[in-house]
Amino acid sequence: YSQSFYAPIRQLMLDVLDSYEDALASSKRITSVLEGDHPDRNEGRELTVLEGRLEYEDVSFTYEGADEETLTDVSFAAEPGSLVGVVGPTGAGKSTLTKLLFRFYEPDRGAIRIDGTDISDVSRRSLREHLGYVSQDPFLFYGTVRENIVYGVREFDTRADAPEIDHADVVAAAKLAGAHEFITDLEDGYDTQVGERGASLSGGQRQRIAIARALLKDPDVLVLDEATSHVDNETERQIQRSIDATAGEQTTIAIAHRLSTVRNADQILVVDDGEIVERGTHDELVEQDGLYADLWRVQVGDLEAVSEAFLERARA
Ligand code: ATP
Repeated sequence: YSQSFYAPIRQLMLDVLDSYEDALASSKRITSVLEGDHPDRNEGRELTVLEGRLEYEDVSFTYEGADEETLTDVSFAAEPGSLVGVVGPTGAGKSTLTKLLFRFYEPDRGAIRIDGTDISDVSRRSLREHLGYVSQDPFLFYGTVRENIVYGVREFDTRADAPEIDHADVVAAAKLAGAHEFITDLEDGYDTQVGERGASLSGGQRQRIAIARALLKDPDVLVLDEATSHVDNETERQIQRSIDATAGEQTTIAIAHRLSTVRNADQILVVDDGEIVERGTHDELVEQDGLYADLWRVQVGDLEAVSEAFLERARA
């Protein structure tokens, strides 16, 4: 069958995948309507990415029916290949910030640009070919580890010149994601069955498989939503290493719940109540002695040094 025969089916599956991931990420509302029913007014307009510079300019957004803005005047720029950490209290707007990049929602005001192109001027399909996403709780289906890594890469790549994926590519992505070692320790290695009735993998292992999947796609911009669930120290170190390894390869935005995972980020954005309230490197933010410094003190257990203002907030 020709590429064009499968193209509509691939598009459909791409939409299903997107809304599934989004539903997982927000687990609040299933947004399939957003994707399935609306024709894309930019269909056919392709995004060209040469470097992967990402820019948010005064982006504001309100969820339908919400009383308050969820994001207010968010601006930042990420250099190609840099790692941006996004941290802040729960409900601050971190996930929403990245959902706008995938155009699950459109900003009320402001613009998001990749290499200078406003993402609202290109088709969603084209935009998403350049983006990778690893959700908090990645979805593994019934199949082998290898199939789970390759999933969504070849099948959904509608380009006529889409590259074949061989085992070496899969292993390279798994190594970069810090997953190769535990995979080879499984009974049948890359051929081990996972998912419903397969080997039970920890949350951290599933996330590393999902990172390998995202890296194999070789996106220009990668969004990682760190698992909130408890992971042991070794898994945390592994995930931190894979986040560090992805940077340099592509522009990476990592939503972090454990500040230590983005300690090495080129810049960290501290989001509070829909606004970027502080920004800088880890050292700069500790020096600034604001919200980040307090969050950091809490994470390292230096509770006595936490500011009174922060404690008051925590009590409220
Ligand atoms: P967490 O760290 O808990 O994941 P977050 O910083 O990622 O939080 P968001 O998920 O972006 O925060 O949510 C920001 C605000 O928007 C919250 O008040 C949330 O309740 C609200 N919100 C999120 N998704 C929706 C939605 N689909 N419809 C309406 N409101 C939403």
